Amino acid sequence: MFDMPDFDGHEAVHWFHDKATGYRGLIAIHDSTLGPACGGTRMWAYANADAALTDALRLSKGMSYKNAMAELPLGGGKAVIMGDAKTQKTPALMRAHGRAVASLDGRYVTAMDVGMTEADMETIASVTKHVAGYAQAGRTGGDPSPMTAWGVFCGIRAAVKFVNGSDDLKGLRIAVQGVGNVGYETARHLKAAGARLVVADVNPANLHRAEALGAEIASPDAIHAADADVYAPCALGAVLNDRTIGQIRAKIVAGGANNQLARPAVHGRAVMEQGILYAPDYVINGGGIIRVCGQIYDWSDEAIRAKTEGIGVTLTEVFGAAQAERRPTHEVADRIARTRIESAKQSKAA
Ligand code: NAD
Repeated sequence: MFDMPDFDGHEAVHWFHDKATGYRGLIAIHDSTLGPACGGTRMWAYANADAALTDALRLSKGMSYKNAMAELPLGGGKAVIMGDAKTQKTPALMRAHGRAVASLDGRYVTAMDVGMTEADMETIASVTKHVAGYAQAGRTGGDPSPMTAWGVFCGIRAAVKFVNGSDDLKGLRIAVQGVGNVGYETARHLKAAGARLVVADVNPANLHRAEALGAEIASPDAIHAADADVYAPCALGAVLNDRTIGQIRAKIVAGGANNQLARPAVHGRAVMEQGILYAPDYVINGGGIIRVCGQIYDWSDEAIRAKTEGIGVTLTEVFGAAQAERRPTHEVADRIARTRIESAKQSKAA
């Protein structure tokens, strides 16, 4: 593991096995300087243990950066369960995972990710209290996507202000790729602020919902190239790639999807060189983890909302530094995240 390209000085990686259920999983703790490591559990049919470890190393580091940029008292961690969520998931296997989480005694707090449902989280919660990010009686929170969408909306406003000098969205054309949980809610906020919408989705029911917002419909293959002021990817990752970047007409890319840059080192720079302002995905979509954190620490809805609105301020800081240094915005965001973690480490040591 220490020689793997994705190893980044991770604090710990714990492997778990439960013979009775066939559970095989691991929990990676990238950094816990800022607080207990927090990140979702992903259940996926990995080809082998190396692939699972690579994913856990990469995703847990991503959570450290995301939590640091959202200024949360949380470190970065991630759990992966090796297996097909459709065919191999059982309540007993979920409880085995819950016991694995419990064994770390709060050093890792889990939430939902690919392959997990609210019902699974409830099963996990029957054996550990170190779980958040789903509807729990008597606690704020639940589905994080409305807060993710609110953060994306605030981030789009901040990007528009940086480019246009005003955050007025009235009359601006915004292309939303994917109108699912996050994309639809974002579109609703944009519409309420006076923006004109063009949307694409592969799910007709979700498209139909967006049509009720007066949105124009574009083809899923062409939405990135729409004649728009802002392109908001809210569906898939890797949408900023060799094929798409040259076709983007918007001056701003700001949306909720994870891992938008196909190859960050290459495509972050390509976007910048085309004069496009890119809102780093893990910064603009931090509203969901802010909601999860609020549930862990019992923050009020007002505090969660105010923190989410801070995403706009953070992005403005990233945009300003990137412009001054002529560096891609994602590089600047990564650096700010690392600096926040490092300085907290030093003040702890002092
Ligand atoms: P979702 O499944 O509810 O929505 C995704 C939508 O994209 C669906 O309507 C789907 O039909 C559509 N879609 C799929 N392929 C498409 C394509 N080729 N072209 C256009 N549309 C397509 O998921 P979500 O929760 O809204 O998440 C969307 C993105 O935001 C994901 O990348 C997710 O990782 C990221 N994200 C979500 C949250 C959250 O709180 N839900 C938080 C952070 C990041």
